[in-house]
Parts: sequence; structure tokens; C-alpha cells
Amino acid sequence: MAARSADAIVVGGGLVGSAIAWGLQHQGLATLLLDEGDVAFRASRGNFGLVWVQSKGLGAPHYQRWTRASAENWPSLAADLAARTGLDCGLQQGGGVHLCLTEQELEQRSRRMARMQEEAGNFGYDYRMLDAAEARDLLPGLGPEVRGASWTPYDGHANPLNLLHALHRSFTLAGGAYVREAKVIRAQAALHDFRIGTAAGEFSAPRLVLAAGLGNAELAPLFGLSTPVRPQRGQILVTERTTEALPMPTTTIRQTSDGTLLLGDSQEEVGFDLRQDPAVMAAVADRAIRCFPWIGRLSIIRAWSALRVMAPDGLPIYDESETYAGAFAANCHSGVTLAAAHAALFAPMVARGALDPGMEAFSARRFQVTQAA
Ligand SMILES: Cc1cc2nc3c(=O)[nH]c(=O)nc-3n(C[C@H](O)[C@H](O)[C@H](O)COP(=O)(O)OP(=O)(O)OC[C@H]3O[C@@H](n4cnc5c(N)ncnc54)[C@H](O)[C@@H]3O)c2cc1C
Repeated sequence: MAARSADAIVVGGGLVGSAIAWGLQHQGLATLLLDEGDVAFRASRGNFGLVWVQSKGLGAPHYQRWTRASAENWPSLAADLAARTGLDCGLQQGGGVHLCLTEQELEQRSRRMARMQEEAGNFGYDYRMLDAAEARDLLPGLGPEVRGASWTPYDGHANPLNLLHALHRSFTLAGGAYVREAKVIRAQAALHDFRIGTAAGEFSAPRLVLAAGLGNAELAPLFGLSTPVRPQRGQILVTERTTEALPMPTTTIRQTSDGTLLLGDSQEEVGFDLRQDPAVMAAVADRAIRCFPWIGRLSIIRAWSALRVMAPDGLPIYDESETYAGAFAANCHSGVTLAAAHAALFAPMVARGALDPGMEAFSARRFQVTQAA
């Protein structure tokens, strides 16, 4: 059977792959989005929904700049997706806070924020450390244990399921082809010539982007790439709806547009284990109640766990193959936050055929150890 051909293939229909596929299709490239489907690990359906900037990129100012660029592009992405699909991504970007429960936490946070501002240099990094009284003015209902907070104007949150749905829908409405149950099982790579075998058929294109989340680790070497990502589990609790209002998200508590609260989110090194752990769930709930005692009156109505896609240093990986020109890889653990950068900035680079020189710092070559002679 002849392979179905296109201008570009994107492997992985999660938030990263969908944003890139939508961006490519928008650039005028006929794009195929190949997705494994429900059996795969899918961070995109289990995340917290923050569009978060304030703690991103300590010691890596390029990551802070990339995250800020995405946050700046988010309003136009949300407006564009809404106009094309009628779906509301629920974007709110009125700033966000990180709450500190001890003097030690507050001191550490203060040092971290000062360093981030220093590293940002002329690019700037707007933040404020709030004492307990200032934090209480901003977030009524804070508990007596809260010692203070950091605040930046850049942060926000969105509805990540609507985002994923809107990306898929706008991609297909623009003529892109989404192929489900299409796990990559065979691959032939040559310069600008990629042939992909899946249970759903054979596909070929001169450009290929690997955006298969945790699946990238196995796929990348087939294309002369390396994406050493590992799973990191996070657990999230959802409360019943409340009439209390949380004016802005915190790093671990946010209110959805229908009034429920999301409480999160743990960071557990447990491999590919998606079980929920009552002890971790209790710790998540305990911290939330120490921050806002009124949360203790609410029932938990849902809880889940999902696996983050983590590089060894926690930063994204964006790469292009040195062996097979035309092959790219994208991985990150902030697929909601970075969706706008993936659609508006990364996809055009792929369409042009090369990543911008500034992206070199994100290459997985940073993990290669140089042997001393
Ligand atoms: C608990 C938790 C909280 C989080 N909170 C936030 C947050 O607040 N803000 C934020 O920005 N980010 C957050 N994230 C991270 C965000 O969810 C991820 O960065 C993002 O979902 C990663 O998307 P992805 O497309 O790379 O991976 P995935 O969502 O895992 O998607 C990968 C896709 O690739 C497909 N696939 C895999 N292997 C193959 C193959 N061989 N062939 C074809 N297809 C394949 C799968 O079917 C899947 O659809 C959180 C994550 C977790 C787990």
C-alpha cells in the first residue's frame, strides 16, 4: 500500500504535538498528526492547568525568556482558537502567587526570586515579595500559618482540556489530518525523507517532529536524536464547587471557572506507576488547608495521578537531528504554559527547516558528557 504523504508529520497528539501540528498547518504545511491513543501515558489529560512563569528558569534565563514569550502569546492563541472553534480555553492571566508557610520557605523564595531578577538582566523580571498582611489583602481567607508569598504579574491559568480540544479542532478545521491508534512501530529515516509505519497505515513526509511525550525517549534514536525524558508522577485533588472565590491561582491551588478547586500537585519519582497514594493525597490536602483553612470544609469529589515528562535538568528539550535533516524533537513539563510558544514560535522554525540559533541551549546535547583526554 502506498504511504500517505504530507509536508510534515507530528508524532504525538498531546498538548505539545497538537500545538506544533496546529502551528505547522497554520503555516500552510499539510500536516499529519499521528497519535497512539488511550493506552499511552498522557500528561495532557491530567495536568493542573497553570500558565505559569514565576519559578521557571532559575540558572537558565533562556528558559525564563521562552516561558515569558509563551505567556505573552497566550492571549492571541486563546482568541484565535475561540474564533475558529467556539471553544473557550478559559485563560485568566491576572498574576499568581507562591505561598510560603514558614520563615525558611519565605527566605528561600525571596532569594530565588532575587536571583531570577538578577539573571534576567535587562530583560527584566517583575516580582514582589509580600509579607503576611499584604498576602492576606490580596487573597482573603488565607490562614494564620501563611508567612508571605511571591507574586508576579505574568502568571495565570486555563482550562487544559478545552485547550487540547481546541488545538485538535482548529488543526482539523484548517485541513490537518489527525490519525488515531497510530503508534509508531517502524521508521525509516533519510535526509528530508521520513517513512513511518503504524497500525493505522504508512505515512511519509520531508519534515518530522517527535512530540510523543514519554514515548520520545524510545523514538528519538531512530532519527538521530536523543530525548532522555523520565516520568515524574503528580497527583491532583478536586473539591466540590464553592461560593468562596480565589482571586488568582497559587502554585498549588487554583479555582476552575465552574467553582471547583484543584489542589496539587505532588512531584514523585516512582517510574511508570500511575497509582494514587493516599499519603501523598493527604499531604496535598493538608497543605491546601494550612494555606486556606476554609478548604477543609469542602469535600473532595475527584482525584487522579498523571506522569510529567521530565528531562534530567527539568528544562524543555528542543532539538533538530544532525544526522537526518528535517527531523525535530520537542519535550517539556509545561505543555499548557508553553502551548503558545509551540504554536507561534517553534512551529514556524520547523516550517523554515531549522531551529533559531537561540534554541541551541535547549538541545539535548547539553546532557552529553565530554570525556577528559
Ligand atoms: C500532575 C501534572 C500537573 C501538571 N501541571 C501543569 C501545569 O499546571 N501547567 C503546565 O504548563 N503543564 C503542566 N503539566 C505538564 C503538561 O501536562 C505536560 O507538559 C504536557 O501535557 C506534555 O504534553 P506532551 O504532548 O509532551 O505529552 P503527553 O500528553 O504525554 O502526550 C504524548 C502523546 O504522544 C502519544 N504517543 C506516545 N508514544 C507514541 C508513539 N510511539 N507513536 C504515536 N504516538 C505516541 C500519546 O498517545 C500521547 O497522546 C503537568 C503535568 C502533570 C502530570
